[in-house]
Amino acid sequence: MGGRQLPGLRIGLTGGIGSGKSTVARRFAALGALVVDSDALAQALTAPGGAAIPAIAAAFGVEMIAADGAMDRARMRALVFGQPAQRQRLEAILHPMIGEATRAQASRAGAGQPIVFDVPLLTESGTWRGRVDRILVVDCREATQVARVVQRSGWTADAVERTLAQQASRAQRRAIADAVIYNEALTLEQLEGEVDALWASWATK
Ligand code: ATP
Repeated sequence: MGGRQLPGLRIGLTGGIGSGKSTVARRFAALGALVVDSDALAQALTAPGGAAIPAIAAAFGVEMIAADGAMDRARMRALVFGQPAQRQRLEAILHPMIGEATRAQASRAGAGQPIVFDVPLLTESGTWRGRVDRILVVDCREATQVARVVQRSGWTADAVERTLAQQASRAQRRAIADAVIYNEALTLEQLEGEVDALWASWATK
């Protein structure tokens, strides 16, 4: 790619489940970007010894903490499902911590190193527009999302469809995008080529 670096560009990367975000993020990392994975940061907070565990135990009771010291995800999911007040209590604990962990990780970027924020729920959160220079959406047909996740994770098609229904729609995502990669009928090599092209074009702007 000629070694040309973007001038510290901040890219928000999003897309629905199974759209191909992680694959795109990995390509950006290979091109030299620092990738900040918000799902991984959130997971770490609620893993054994995670920074959010004491606050979750205090707010919801120690029964929400599994024997290994992680948040009991299944139990928490059952609690917050259909109970917005409980969900908000959990989010009030986690969101500021995720924000802090995101800033800490981004601060490790080298001078001029582009940062890619991989945020599955970027469209839903509404606070990202002002925090990044570009929003990139990875898009594909819903049937393709379902097929990919079933194949990758062994989920049932029903489970994937329920998750899809809770996420922003394709149209909502595209409405906030500066660029869209349409990851449909592309080989993985072609998908990487799309990322390379975008990288080259953003480097010159
Ligand atoms: P999730 O939100 O579920 O983490 P994601 O948006 O990060 O998903 P990926 O993990 O990048 O998506 O892709 C989902 C699966 O589909 C992976 O197994 C990936 O290898 C595959 N995949 C994505 N794009 C393509 C493609 N163009 N050709 C073939 N396989 C693909």
